[in-house]
Amino acid sequence: MRPDERHQPAPRQDVSYWCRNDHRVDIRIAADVEPPPLWDCPRCGLPAGRDAQNPPGRVRAEPYKSHLAYVKERRTAEEGEALLAEALAALRRRRGE
Ligand SMILES: [Zn+2]
Repeated sequence: MRPDERHQPAPRQDVSYWCRNDHRVDIRIAADVEPPPLWDCPRCGLPAGRDAQNPPGRVRAEPYKSHLAYVKERRTAEEGEALLAEALAALRRRRGE
């Protein structure tokens, strides 16, 4: 990167990003631009964040969580059905007597 001597070079800032695969991405953007919070890692395509200790890949727990939530929901539905069956049985007992 050779500075252009004909024009005053615009002030730049170097920004680093890290993806969850420990890839470091260095970009250079205009100094007056707010760096985006995420940058796509050019090596693996995953989103990279500015906090090396906490790359955005950690959000990967999300699908597992929602699966758990799904299982939980399903179990709650089964419990609900059991409760309903119990209630119906009680109703039938009452009617039968
Ligand atoms: Zn990467």
